[in-house]
Amino acid sequence: MDLGEGLRKAFAKIRGIEIVDSKSVREVNKEIQKALLSADVELDLTLELTKRVEERVIHKQLPKGISAKDYLFEVLYEEIVNVMGTSYQPEIKPMRIMLLGLYGSGKTTTAAKLARYYQNRGIGAGVICCDLNRPAAFEQLNALASQAGVGFFGIKDEKDVKKIIEKGLLELKNKKVIICDTGGRNALDKDLVDELREIEKHFKPDEKILVISADTGKVAGRQAEAFNKEIGISGVIITKIDGSGKAGGALSAVNKTKAKTLFITTGEKLDAIEPYDSKKFVSKLLGMPDLEGLIETVENAIKSTNIRKEELENVEELDFDTFYKQLKAMNNMGPLRNIFGMMGMPDIPKETLEKAEDKIKKYGAIISSMTKEERKNADLLKEKGRITRIAKGSGTDEKEVRELISDFNKMKKLIKTAMGDRAMKKRFGNLIGR
Ligand code: GDP
Ligand code: MG
Repeated sequence: MDLGEGLRKAFAKIRGIEIVDSKSVREVNKEIQKALLSADVELDLTLELTKRVEERVIHKQLPKGISAKDYLFEVLYEEIVNVMGTSYQPEIKPMRIMLLGLYGSGKTTTAAKLARYYQNRGIGAGVICCDLNRPAAFEQLNALASQAGVGFFGIKDEKDVKKIIEKGLLELKNKKVIICDTGGRNALDKDLVDELREIEKHFKPDEKILVISADTGKVAGRQAEAFNKEIGISGVIITKIDGSGKAGGALSAVNKTKAKTLFITTGEKLDAIEPYDSKKFVSKLLGMPDLEGLIETVENAIKSTNIRKEELENVEELDFDTFYKQLKAMNNMGPLRNIFGMMGMPDIPKETLEKAEDKIKKYGAIISSMTKEERKNADLLKEKGRITRIAKGSGTDEKEVRELISDFNKMKKLIKTAMGDRAMKKRFGNLIGR
C-alpha cells in the first residue's frame, strides 16, 4: 500500500464515523500511523503528529461554522503538510549551483532537468561535467544536456578539476545559470569530501544542493545532516518521487533537519522536476485535483507538439494528423497515472492505464502507416483493401484499425459538442491560446 492509498483510506474512514470523539479519532489516527510508517516516516514524527491531532480535536471547542468531521479533516491535512515540509519558490537569477550526492541518487539527470527548468523560465543555463570517476559520466551529461537544449561543457578523460571549471566557466560565459555535476561514492567518505571541496574551491557555487533518492526513505535525513556537516548544503532535491513508496519518509526526515527540500523530481522525462510544495504533495496523495499542475502539463505538452489553436477549434477539419498530434501531446504529458493523479483520480487500476498507454502507442503506429491522403480524408478508408494494408504496415490487425477509426469519430463528436458549449470553448481556447 502506498502512502497516498493509506491516507485516502484513513480519510475515507472519517466520512464513515458517526461522531467525532476520542475513540473515533484514535481509530482514524491508527490508520494514519499505519500509512505513514509504511512509507518509512520516522516513528517519533508519526507519533507526534497523531498526538497533536488528538490535542487539537478531542475535548476542544470547535471553531464556529465547521462540522466536527470537516475540522478533523482540516487538522489532519495541516499536520501532515507540516511534517512533510514547506514550499520553495525558486528565484530566477544568475547563479552557480553545485549538485552533490551519492552514486545513483540522480545528480546527472537532475543537472540537466534543473538547467532546463531555469532556461524555460527565460534565463540561459548550462551544465559542467565534474564527475571524474565514472568513465561514461561525460557522455551521459552531454546527451542529457543536448536533449534538454541547455549548454554543456566537459573535457573527456581530464582529471584536473581546476582546468575543467576554468574552461567551462569561460565557455559557458553567456549562460546565467551554471550547474556543476559531480561524481558520487557509495558513502560519504573522505575521498568524496576532498573531491567536493576541491570542486567547490574552483567553482565557487552560490548554492550547494544535495541530491537524494526518495528510495532512501528516512535515511535521507541522516544523509542531509552528514553532508551539511561536511560540506554545508543550501538544500536538498529529492528524486524518483514517482517510483518510490518511501517519498514521504524521505521528505519528512529531511524536513526535520536544517536542510530543506527545494525541488522534487517525478520521472524520467526532462520536464519532471518541480519546486517542492508540501501542500501540493499532500493534496495529491489525498486525491485532491491539482488543476494548476494539470494546466501546466497540458500547456507544455501542447507547446512541444506544435498544435495550432485553429487545428483544435476547427472541428470540421479534424483529421488523423491532428488526432495523431493530440495523441503525441498526451504522450508528452508523461505517464497517464500522473495525469489522472493531477485530476484527482489516483486510484485508476494499473491495467486500465497500461491498456490506454498501449492503445496510444498502437494508434501512433497505425496513423503512421496511412498515406497523406488517408490522413486528411477518413472517408477513403472505406475503400476496399486500405484497412488491410494499414494493418499490415503498422503491425496491427484490421480490428484495431477499425477501433481507431471509431475512436476518432467519437472524439470528433465529443469535441464538436464541447466546442458548441460556449463556456467550454472559452476555457479551452484560453488554455491553448496562451
Ligand atoms: P547519479 O549517479 O547521481 O548521477 O544518478 P543519475 O542521474 O545517473 O540517475 C540514476 C538513475 O536514476 C538513472 O537511471 C535515471 O534515469 C534515474 N532517475 C533519475 N531521476 C529520476 C526520477 O525522478 N524518476 C525516475 N523514475 N528515475 C529517475
Ligand atoms: Mg552522475
